[in-house]
Amino acid sequence: MKNFEFKNPTKILFGKGQIENIKNEIPENAKVLMLYGGGSIKKNGIYEQVNSALSDHDLLEFGGIPANPEYAVLMKALKVIKEENITYLLAVGGGSVIDGTKFLSSAALYDGDHPWDILANKIPTLKGMPFGTVLTLPATGSEMNSGAVITREETKEKLGMGGAGLFPQFSVLDPQVVHSIPQRQLVNGITDAFTHVLEQYLTYPAGAYLQDRISESIMQTLIEVAPKVLEDPSDYTAASNFMWSCTMALNGLIQKGVPTDWAVHAIGHELTALYGIDHARTLAVIAPSHYEYNFESKKEKLAQYAERVWNITDGTTEYKASAAIKTTETFFNELGIDTKLSQYTDDYEGTAEEISKRFKERGWEGLGEHQNLKPEDAEKIVKMAY
Ligand code: NAP
Ligand code: FE
Repeated sequence: MKNFEFKNPTKILFGKGQIENIKNEIPENAKVLMLYGGGSIKKNGIYEQVNSALSDHDLLEFGGIPANPEYAVLMKALKVIKEENITYLLAVGGGSVIDGTKFLSSAALYDGDHPWDILANKIPTLKGMPFGTVLTLPATGSEMNSGAVITREETKEKLGMGGAGLFPQFSVLDPQVVHSIPQRQLVNGITDAFTHVLEQYLTYPAGAYLQDRISESIMQTLIEVAPKVLEDPSDYTAASNFMWSCTMALNGLIQKGVPTDWAVHAIGHELTALYGIDHARTLAVIAPSHYEYNFESKKEKLAQYAERVWNITDGTTEYKASAAIKTTETFFNELGIDTKLSQYTDDYEGTAEEISKRFKERGWEGLGEHQNLKPEDAEKIVKMAY
């Protein structure tokens, strides 16, 4: 096991009726800006629940943060924060609204003239404006981590940011929100969370037995609850296990003491930036090719994954490893997720070269757990995914 430090300061309020309790988490004298997306919260009752919980607070709102939170929209919210002297942010939404709020938390206290520099120059956020979240879509884990990904349509970029100052102070996880989530977003959530575990688990054996077992159990739980959640999103037991699995998949716990990969996300973000493909779907496109391409360095862990998660116990290491990749792709396909780029766009020729060019320009010369994947390797992986 590698050395590590672990601190996760986010307080979780899990369960039925917890939205009501946000009034106790936000200082009484705060001037609060509630941030939300395209309006789903106005149809499913969450908007009313938040407003009623904060009826004694000074509360303003900013809606319209789109999926893949857009920089230009967030800059409008930043203006409101400054003009209205906002002191506390409340994200009510999925990963996009939460990530957008993290950007605002950072940008609100940023001294420079161009907040995009936080992303372009990878400036870590050590202190941000305090914020909490009411999660409406289990998927990203953003509700209990300190990372965010922001999109800029103008330049077709999608870049990450983070830092110890970007953990939410609290997050409400009420599984009842799952009932109104459309199937497309449910399968996206399952796929994103599943791939988060793969990115922290499918590396090389690091002697971290407990982290491996926790990762395997998160994946097994997602496999178990997926059909139940899809059949009946108001099944509370299924929804609560789905929700907590997604949070646990990316709250830092399973990545401590182990090597992590994240190449699938790095390449996937480019597909969203270029073609607007849903985040989770870009991962399902890239992951099988990535594991195939890096078969030699990952085969032992792939075989362990085959045995323990998919119960593929016969055959050589190579056989099991190969079966694991195929079974994972089938799992995504059975959720209704296409795993080839050409199924999303006819315009895919040249994508691999474009991504390789972008990585070179940014100096991204070492992706993956060994930091040895060059832009040329990313190019080959993307071509395999056409
Ligand atoms: P999302 O983009 O936040 O939301 C997708 C759609 O689901 C939106 O149209 C949203 O509608 C709708 N929705 C959300 N909750 C709903 C509910 N309860 N009922 C009905 N509709 C609902 O999806 P996401 O997958 O959570 O977030 C994706 C973003 O997170 C991507 O930008 C991705 O790169 C990023 N991400 C971040 C991390 C991280 O650690 N920070 C990790 C992985 C991915 P409204 O717009 O109306 O709300
Ligand atoms: Fe993700």
